[in-house]
Amino acid sequence: HSEDSQNVLEAHQWLTKLYHHLLRNSKDGKTAYQYLIDRGFTEDTIKKYQLGYSPNSKDFVVTFLEKKGYHPQTMVKAGLLSVNDQGEYADRFRGRVIFPLRNHLGKTVAFAGRALGNQEPKYLNSPETELFHKGRLLYNFDQARSSIRKQKTVILFEGFGDVISADQAGVHNGVATMGTSLSSSQANLLKRYVDKVIICYDGDQPGIEAAVKAAKTMKAVGCQTFVARIPDGLDPDDFIQKNGGDRFQKEVLDTSDTYVSFVMSYLRRDYNLQLEGDRIAYIENVLQEVALLERAVEREHYINELANEFDMSVETLKEEVQRIRGQKV
Ligand code: ATP
Ligand code: MN
Ligand code: MN
Ligand code: MN
Repeated sequence: HSEDSQNVLEAHQWLTKLYHHLLRNSKDGKTAYQYLIDRGFTEDTIKKYQLGYSPNSKDFVVTFLEKKGYHPQTMVKAGLLSVNDQGEYADRFRGRVIFPLRNHLGKTVAFAGRALGNQEPKYLNSPETELFHKGRLLYNFDQARSSIRKQKTVILFEGFGDVISADQAGVHNGVATMGTSLSSSQANLLKRYVDKVIICYDGDQPGIEAAVKAAKTMKAVGCQTFVARIPDGLDPDDFIQKNGGDRFQKEVLDTSDTYVSFVMSYLRRDYNLQLEGDRIAYIENVLQEVALLERAVEREHYINELANEFDMSVETLKEEVQRIRGQKV
């Protein structure tokens, strides 16, 4: 059992090296290498993240692993090979750009393979294995950890490309989930290192909705939670490649919203605040969020803001918040 998982771990390290080597040195890998350069990744970045390429061949990796002495069946369980009804093995990631997924110790425990063009699926990840639980791993945590500590802040992204572009542009404290929503185990892990998180998801509709969920999860573990907004439906990677790291820092990270401000502007879009009924529903919704805030100063801040905007008495709003808080206990 544990001998198998040692083998599986080793096989991942071999393949990380092989895929990286093939990206840089094989004829086939040239297209993939150019794809990464065209995306704006530098040579140093490609090295730092050990990006790779899996050749579009069924047996290249199969043969490589066999020569290293790994049982194809074990490699299937490890999610590195696939097997068809005829019992033929093939590389699971063939023809894809490879993003090794490292654990907190810096060991590759899984891969994500990105299609070079518009093929579906865009990303193909390793399945869940003994080594890889996508709900627990945070992409780049091993390399980001020291700057997360230093800056006492973590930036949470949606995609691998976002983490990599941000790092290349000077923002080194970024991590990402594996295309799944942030789990409470990931939130708890982050909370052990920081008090402050900036959620920096894509500016499109799915990204905004995922940010609401992730923000609630981070709030729930007691983190000071901010949410960045990326204009024009771009994702952080696109924004950085288009506008550079300085503008990303100044216009996106430095102007991120507090959790409640973000929820307020999110809710606002669903209501026509000119209408009395909508206005009341909106205020009620915001108060629900305000009631969840631990700190009285924070609650008071938003109560004042609402009172000002809607010309209501602070006392009424406070009473309502107290009522909601009372229900919660
Ligand atoms: P790229 O910039 O390479 O086009 P992205 O990171 O911007 O990709 P999104 O579509 O924003 O991709 O998705 C965010 C994340 O969700 C990806 O980084 C990946 O982890 C995951 N993901 C996206 N598409 C898939 C898919 N088809 N299967 C599994 N995971 C996916
Ligand atoms: Mn997205
Ligand atoms: Mn994206
Ligand atoms: Mn992207």
